[in-house]
Amino acid sequence: MSSTEKNKILKTKKKRKRSNEDDLQRSAKKVKGKNNNDEQSSPANQPLPKAGGKKRLRDNEEPQDEIKRRKVENEGNIEKTPATQPDAGIHGKKRCRSSDEGIAWKQVKKMKSPACQPGPSHCPTEQPKEPAEECSSYSPISIERFFFHQHLGSGSYGKVMLAMDSVTSQYIAIKTLKKRKLLEEDEREFIMVEHQILQIANECKFLTGLYAAFHNKDYVFYAMEYLPGGSLGELLSARGPLNIETVRFIAAELICGISFLHSKGIVHRDLKPENILLDSVGHIKIADFGLALENMFEGQTATEYAGTPGYIAPEMTGKKKYNASVDWWSYGIILYEMVTGKMPFQSIPKGEIKCLRTLKGDIKDLITKLLRKDPAGRLTDASSMKAHPFFNPIVWEDLEAGRMEPPFSMPRVMITEEVLPHEQVLCSEEEKSPIAKKDQSLFKGFTYVSPCWRASSAPTTEQQIEKKKEEREKEKEKEKEKEEKEQDPYENLAVQDKAEQVETLDPMRLEGA
Ligand code: ADP
Ligand code: MG
Repeated sequence: MSSTEKNKILKTKKKRKRSNEDDLQRSAKKVKGKNNNDEQSSPANQPLPKAGGKKRLRDNEEPQDEIKRRKVENEGNIEKTPATQPDAGIHGKKRCRSSDEGIAWKQVKKMKSPACQPGPSHCPTEQPKEPAEECSSYSPISIERFFFHQHLGSGSYGKVMLAMDSVTSQYIAIKTLKKRKLLEEDEREFIMVEHQILQIANECKFLTGLYAAFHNKDYVFYAMEYLPGGSLGELLSARGPLNIETVRFIAAELICGISFLHSKGIVHRDLKPENILLDSVGHIKIADFGLALENMFEGQTATEYAGTPGYIAPEMTGKKKYNASVDWWSYGIILYEMVTGKMPFQSIPKGEIKCLRTLKGDIKDLITKLLRKDPAGRLTDASSMKAHPFFNPIVWEDLEAGRMEPPFSMPRVMITEEVLPHEQVLCSEEEKSPIAKKDQSLFKGFTYVSPCWRASSAPTTEQQIEKKKEEREKEKEKEKEKEEKEQDPYENLAVQDKAEQVETLDPMRLEGA
């Protein structure tokens, strides 16, 4: 296997610095292997496609582990897992195109969930009509509508950019995925899952929602709400271990987001600090549904290997059947990282997880219950989790409604005014060889626009919020003045007199006012 092929298998993540003692580099590589959803699976639970921006293992390919691991606590007795050891048993299953007629892009209908009330981005879905000759005109929304500002993150198939919508002046995040790469690697069908889950995510304030999905001849685009607080990974890098109040708050919001996904039959499978984003105030939003698995309702299991080494549950590394409890294992790892600033281990230890001994209090009990290697004994029930003594100070009703203030302050985000030319961000593939019309037709139906987004000019950054607030204050003042004037017909005269007096006394002051 060539090194390029090998590089295709696993996704390399950016370096990230840790607390003072930890100048560490993450081994945050995503992997996805054989999909063996077992016999229990319903037809709807067929081997599930992989969403864009991710890599999965192919036939006869092995996971690659050339990147240095983050510093971990010393754990003897290390069990070899696919995360650390190439494992010939983990092969990707090649998928065939189901049909060349196009993908069945599902437009998700608005659903209510008791677990999570709609966030500000929540709205019913609406499908704009795509032009009949979509191959030539692609989508009713054009990428030209957006000004690119700065790079927010990178994926295997493209990047995530901060952009301004020239129509609403709203900042949004645009995830770009190269069609050619999706087609070449037969991953084209797999963005369907991310497309669908991003729409469902609009229903929960603890998940990153989708404003729109559209495409041009070279790229597919997801326009998402922009989360200026960066990722939890960046927060950990900047601040190291977090104080217990912060851990509690983030952990509680995560429970809401994860349990919402599970209530919809979705297992995320790639929960890690890099995929937990923060808004301008400090509320969390789970992102990146590229490795998620759908139709995982009660009783359903899967055996496909997917995720980021270090966060993958032992039942998955052990090639056993698994269910949604793999997300609670990853959640336990994230809690440990928030408390200590380190990952608990490089590979899952065979025996006792000794580093847990260093923890104290209720959080120790919670993490210990989450990091139980046998999923049958693991804490996986959201209501028992919420009732755990660690969360005693949380008023769940307020937290779920987004009324609880984060116990930390987010730094002000500076947005570069520089606008990047589109050619710099998106390179046309046409010179190489244009994508065939037949292949283009496979993306038919991809376009999705959330009606709230179209209607909304809601501010998304602190600066915009401030600006909106100021505008509102000014409007209020004007209204008040108008009301007062209506009440006192002589006031105009009085104000005029006063102004004249001031002008005589101090003309400069009046100019400056
Ligand atoms: P990938 O599938 O490549 O991991 P992600 O969806 O996780 O793609 O995005 C990669 C990175 O881009 C994230 O870790 C985050 O730093 C940034 N990012 C993604 N979505 C947003 C968003 N909505 N707002 C701000 N930054 C984002
Ligand atoms: Mg990601």
